Amino acid sequence: MIGMEDVMEKLAVCMQCGACVGSCPVTGLNEFNVRRLARRAYLGWAGQEVLKEEVWLCLLCARCYENCPRGINLPEVMVRLRQQAVKQGLVPRTVSLTRSNLSKYGNPAGVEAKELMEWASDLNVPKSGDRLFYAGFYLLADHIESMVRSMLRVGIKADRVAAAAALLQRVGLGGLVKAAMKGVGLSYRQTLKRYLLTLPKLGLEVSYLYDEEPWVGTELHTYGFLEDFAEHAKRVYALLKERGIKEIVTPDPIAAVTFKKLYPEYVDGFSIEVKTVVEALAEKKPEFKAPVEAKVVFHDPCMLARYLRVVEEPRTLLTSIPGLDLNEPVRNKQFTVCCGAGGLEVVNPSLAREVAVKSVQNLLSTNASLVVSACPMCTMMLKLGVEKLGAKAEVVDLGDILWKALAQEA
Ligand code: SF4
Ligand code: SF4
Repeated sequence: MIGMEDVMEKLAVCMQCGACVGSCPVTGLNEFNVRRLARRAYLGWAGQEVLKEEVWLCLLCARCYENCPRGINLPEVMVRLRQQAVKQGLVPRTVSLTRSNLSKYGNPAGVEAKELMEWASDLNVPKSGDRLFYAGFYLLADHIESMVRSMLRVGIKADRVAAAAALLQRVGLGGLVKAAMKGVGLSYRQTLKRYLLTLPKLGLEVSYLYDEEPWVGTELHTYGFLEDFAEHAKRVYALLKERGIKEIVTPDPIAAVTFKKLYPEYVDGFSIEVKTVVEALAEKKPEFKAPVEAKVVFHDPCMLARYLRVVEEPRTLLTSIPGLDLNEPVRNKQFTVCCGAGGLEVVNPSLAREVAVKSVQNLLSTNASLVVSACPMCTMMLKLGVEKLGAKAEVVDLGDILWKALAQEA
């Protein structure tokens, strides 16, 4: 785990070139300027205004890190600054809610485990085994999308975090959440089920913990609750070891990054192998029988492309499907444009959607009519971006396309 001193040491080599600002998807949408913010932090000028406002606007997408000639990990700087904000009590209300939901419900969306698991009632996947299928954000995405749409409906503007918080105060966050949780669909959990059923069909046996799946805790790290995250990660790891888990396979790249990159920093002796389902499926070289006649563009999720360097595997899978025409946008692979999530969808959904619009514009410059992603949060944001633009394109998850191409039913 790196500390604030290490962050300062890294910032000391910044040469103020501005490559980070030029590549940041939030640049130009408001006053956020990552170079200026990093400079202020280095000089000790990141006062209350910065901690209350600007530090919460970063998506942790790491595009700046990818482009920085000095290799400065600005997302890590942001997390450390958020930790300072947490210590001073300068946390947006929706962020506080995700944290209290985790302690009350066991997940940041605040949904009862029983309600989340209805989709799995007819599953025949064993509960024990050393290779664990981990659902992660696919389990919560239907509820998160409903919540984000509700927040957009009440008109939170893409200007200031504080203004958004004040509006939430007025409309009543509790009531908003309750209303959003009514009549939530099963779209992402349907995709989840397809991923889960596809693996054994291709010879990869997995176990699944159903309502006992422990929440990975990503948002505790994202929002700077680092002591909480350390404790949480240790608890989850102990539980997984107790169950005899040796390998985690997950379709959720956010959970994959958290387990693979963050847990080893916070948990001594972390020794579980972590793989995304995309990697596992590409290794199996499935034979696709049913054609998918469509002009497709693949959106590289930041977590998959930049954090895990998984870029060829989804393309290998897609180009193996008969009839599918895969197109590449100008900004792709490790230079992908973030979808706008990364925690911003909760802090300021309207601003997050503006970022999504930029991402969709990059993707649709290919004239594709089908956008495919491999992350539930990306799919959610890209759908919002397409709707905002009024574009004629559909957004689907890779799991649904593969399911169709394997000629499966359900
Ligand atoms: S890209 Fe790197 S070196 Fe250039 S201003 Fe940003 S942080 Fe500094
Ligand atoms: S991580 Fe992404 S959103 Fe945050 S400063 Fe870097 S490029 Fe901008």
